[in-house]
Amino acid sequence: MKKIKNYIGGKLVEPVSSKYMDNIEPATGEVYSLIPDSDEKDVQLAVDAAEKARHEWATMPIEKRSALLMKVADLIDENLEMLAKAESIDNGKPISLSREVDIPRASANFRFYAAAIVNQSTQAHITADKGVNYTLREPVGIAGCISPWNLPLYLFTWKIAPALASGNCVVAKPSEITPMSAFLLSELCIKAGLPAGVLNIVHGLGPKVGEAIISHPNIPAISFTGGTATGKRIASIAAPMFKKLSLELGGKNPNIIFDDCDFEDALATTLRSSFSNQGQICLCGSRIYVQKGIYDKFLDAFVAKVKAMKVGDPLDSTTKTGAVVSAQHQEKILHYISLAQLEGGKIVAGGNAFNPKGRCRNGYFVQPTVITGLDESCRINQEEIFGPVVTVQPFETEEEVIALANSTNYGLSATIWTQNLTRAHRVGAALKSGIIWINCWLVRDLRTPFGGMKQSGVGREGGDDALNFFTEAKNICIKV
Ligand code: NDP
Repeated sequence: MKKIKNYIGGKLVEPVSSKYMDNIEPATGEVYSLIPDSDEKDVQLAVDAAEKARHEWATMPIEKRSALLMKVADLIDENLEMLAKAESIDNGKPISLSREVDIPRASANFRFYAAAIVNQSTQAHITADKGVNYTLREPVGIAGCISPWNLPLYLFTWKIAPALASGNCVVAKPSEITPMSAFLLSELCIKAGLPAGVLNIVHGLGPKVGEAIISHPNIPAISFTGGTATGKRIASIAAPMFKKLSLELGGKNPNIIFDDCDFEDALATTLRSSFSNQGQICLCGSRIYVQKGIYDKFLDAFVAKVKAMKVGDPLDSTTKTGAVVSAQHQEKILHYISLAQLEGGKIVAGGNAFNPKGRCRNGYFVQPTVITGLDESCRINQEEIFGPVVTVQPFETEEEVIALANSTNYGLSATIWTQNLTRAHRVGAALKSGIIWINCWLVRDLRTPFGGMKQSGVGREGGDDALNFFTEAKNICIKV
């Protein structure tokens, strides 16, 4: 059976404890590889390797650093099919999604930041006849990057690419639930000739490996994407150590559909924004608000389309909905569906576990589920389920729907459907969300700030925000 290894000091190594955990393929429920059960000793080895490498990496000519990162991007592209398959086996996501979204975005992350650093400038301020102030940005040294399981390589590289590009060495931990593509990336980094110790990947559990990274005194910046509860725990450890912290957390995103929308476009996109990756994208809309004039028409059409969705083997190229990530997560989603019924909700599509025939008969699948009849105070409309479950509610006025949309502790993203441009801007400004899509969903531009409001996060990723996060700004003033 394939053994995943840690990537420390440029080498693929066993965990110090020699202990391994099972890695389960969610579509079949079978163990298919072994993951290092690393601990703080492995993290220490990774920090030691990063300490050794950091000076050379930080002072390397920028064109050379950029070329090495471009090489990693090229190798990801060259190995797209292999990585896409590995990611689908590891995660349960349809291979079409891995091929078209996850893996291309991973190489785009490297390419974007490799290009950004050669085009960077700095600010200078002329202070009357007294002096010139300029800003010098220095890498923080060693960055800690921790990522979740839902978009494994996509989010892992979204952190490590800007951290490396800005001259830092990195100690990173992918989710133990989906470690395979990060392991394959470590093989590609060796092939690309990335100097030893620049990137170190330690596999294992959050409370062991993750906390060892968070609490390590030589790692001054932590970039974390994951659940809000984990984010709180991380902040409680890192804040008293005065570490730089970027937290990208959960969401409960509203999708607001006004009477005057382009109906067919809103319908087709809402299907995607609700159920892509089995609803396991932090940006999926899970609360659909439809204005009364088209509520019945929309609900009927939406439910018909949801019922027709093909749930099946993630490795089948025609599958649009694959397995959810684990047995435990399947149980959590089904628990929320039962809770919705107890709260008075009506299941109008899906609602059950499901097993495709053949290879996937023991896998972890949940039917795409639509629930109506719940108000905003219900737990189903307040808590993140992170699965293929949405609620649909009618509304009458703009004021009412803004209040409904803003009624949770989360504020990651929102979607608005209307042909009224003035209203689109007005509602967009009134929503407490970090990302607003108008008449579209998941249109991403890597140059824009990315992140949530309220309990969806602290800090912004993307573009210059990420490069700034992984550097310290120093002001130097010289007398004239
Ligand atoms: P978790 O918070 O459970 O885990 C995220 C990562 O943190 C994993 O690598 C995990 O390790 C690690 N971890 C867990 N506990 C600790 C700890 N005490 N100290 C340090 N690290 C720890 O999230 P999930 O993996 O379940 O991901 C789903 C969540 O991520 C959802 O809430 C989703 O909304 C959010 N998310 C947010 C995004 C955003 O951009 N805002 C984007 C994508 C997802 P392990 O699992 O290996 O134990």
